[in-house]
Order: sequence, then structure tokens, then C-alpha cells
Amino acid sequence: MTTKRRRLSGVRATGRLHLGNYLGALRQWVEQQEDADNFFFIADLHGLTDAASEHDPVAFKHARLSTAAMYLAVGIDPSVSTLFFQSDVPEHTDLMWFLSSVAKKGELERMTQWKDKKGKGGGASSALFFYPVLMAADILLYDADEVPVGDDQRQHVEMARDWAIRFNHHFGNAFIVPSAVIPPAGARVMDLQRPNEKMSKSAKGEGTIYLDDSDDEVVRKIKRAVTDSAGVVASDPERPGISNLVELYATIENSTTEEVTNKYEGQGYGVFKQDLADRMVELVRPIRDRVEGLRDDPHELHRQLSLGADRAQSVAHATAARAAEALGLGPIV
Ligand code: AMP
Repeated sequence: MTTKRRRLSGVRATGRLHLGNYLGALRQWVEQQEDADNFFFIADLHGLTDAASEHDPVAFKHARLSTAAMYLAVGIDPSVSTLFFQSDVPEHTDLMWFLSSVAKKGELERMTQWKDKKGKGGGASSALFFYPVLMAADILLYDADEVPVGDDQRQHVEMARDWAIRFNHHFGNAFIVPSAVIPPAGARVMDLQRPNEKMSKSAKGEGTIYLDDSDDEVVRKIKRAVTDSAGVVASDPERPGISNLVELYATIENSTTEEVTNKYEGQGYGVFKQDLADRMVELVRPIRDRVEGLRDDPHELHRQLSLGADRAQSVAHATAARAAEALGLGPIV
């Protein structure tokens, strides 16, 4: 009997997953669900990185539930994959603390996401600064071989690898050193209004398509997407707006950007955007319909996630105990 590779990934509990989350992460998880022993979690502890003044506990509880509904709606099957809330497994924060002994402050200061977010406004929380250490704990707890993520998370997975190697070197082989798996297409979905920035929940405005957007919202956002005055459907780093739309079209259709630009040669942006909007509506509509149904039954969602948490904890407990023992914690006799 061959043992399946262990795969681990999560998305922050923002409540409304967007197209970047889907094409950069969740779609691959679902497509390859049967190939691996999967641990997928809703990263709710990572949802605590805002300053306290911006955190609304009631809205957050709703967001956690809604994020869980979105995982199921896109096709994560809890009878195949272990699906759970991060906060239901306290070993995540235990291991974060153990790893902080090998994570250097200078390394955290160099993280691109920290530099970007810190630059966008003062008063950043220390949780935001420390987030990569928690993420390393998330990954290492489950002895994962693979971590499927979008390109924006590559640096954090590299960091988790470095810390695992360092910990193993100092304290004995406690951790499996995992690899990031970046999807060939959809790894970086850009904001529709600011195509030089990645699509994200935090970006305000019309540039983000959510998986529970109405048909009208999806069509409007595609039609208003920023392009340029050239009027030629192309994939060209000098023209990020239209290139992002071409990449989206190709990713949805499982074709290449070249096939897309050839198909629309000699046609303006209008026809292309209409076709893309139609495809996008077809993609989002069934997900939205399922999300709405699932959100209506929070008890069932809770039940499914509790089962996942029990399984996750049995694995997490063993790893955290191994790391504790390596550090000289654990039983003293
Ligand atoms: P986050 O929303 O930051 O918790 O990200 C969850 C997952 O979605 C990670 O694997 C990210 O790499 C992926 N992701 C988030 N935004 C994008 C984007 N704009 N394009 C591609 N992947 C993304």
C-alpha cells in the first residue's frame, strides 16, 4: 500500500472568498482532492491581524461561518479531506511559540507582505508582524509534504522551510520540510481596477470579484475593468489590465493566453469583455447558490467542522509533543 502525500493549506476567514483565492488556491485543492491526504483549514487565527479598533467580533463569527460555507461550496468534501477551523486546534499557537525561538526578527521585517501593509497605514498589530511564524506552525504541524498556495505566499512557505531546517538542525529532526506548490495558471489574479496590485479582500471598490457576487455585480465589474486605449486583446507585461483579463479568461477555460489572444484578434475590448463576463457568471453562480444554502444551516456546518477538528488534532498533538520534547519540554521524568 502506498501512503498518500500529505497536503496542507488554508485561507483566511474573511467571510467572502474572491476569485484570487479560488483560482490561485481552492480550485487546485478540489481538482486534486483525491490524490493526497489533505488538511484544509479556515485560518481564523490569521483573521486577528487587524488593529483591535477594526475588529468586530460579531461580524467575525459570521465571517468564519461564511468562509466554511465557501470551502464546501467550491467542492471541498469533508468525507475526503480533513476540514477544520484553525482555532479549534490549540497546537497551532503552541507550535508558533516553539518556532519563534528559531524565527529571527530581521527575517520577519523583510517579509514583503509586512512591508506592504505596514507602509499602507500606521498602527499595525504585532499579530500581523508575527503572522509568518503562525503560518509556519500551521504548515509544520501536519507533517505536510506539499503546500498549495498562490504566488503571494511563496515567501512565507520558504520561511517555514528555513525555520524547520533550522529547528531540526539545533534540536533533532522534529519536522518534515515541505514544498510550496504554485499553480501554473491563476497564481496571481490582479485587481480589476488596479491591475498592478493583486486582487484581495482588503482592496476597496470594484476591483475584486467575490464568489457570492450577484450576476449583475460580476458583469459590472468585468465591464468596468481597467484596460487601456490600444483596443487590442493582448497579453503584454506593459499592459497589465488587459493581460490580467486574458489570463483570467485562459484560466477559466483551461486554455493558453495565446489561444485567447488569437481568438479575439481584430476584435475590440467590448466583445471580449462580454464573453469573459458570461463565463465568469457561469463560474460564480453555482458557487453562490450553494453558499447561500449552506449558510442557512450553521449547525450542520459546525458538525462537519468539529469532526475535522478531531482528526486534525490527533495529528497536530503528536507533532507538537515531538517538538516540545525536542526543546526539553514535556514530561520531566
Ligand atoms: P489569503 O486570502 O491571503 O488567506 O490567501 C489564501 C490563498 O489564496 C493563498 O493560497 C493565496 O496565495 C491565494 N490568493 C490570495 N489572493 C490571491 C490572488 N490575488 N491571486 C492568486 N492567489 C491568491
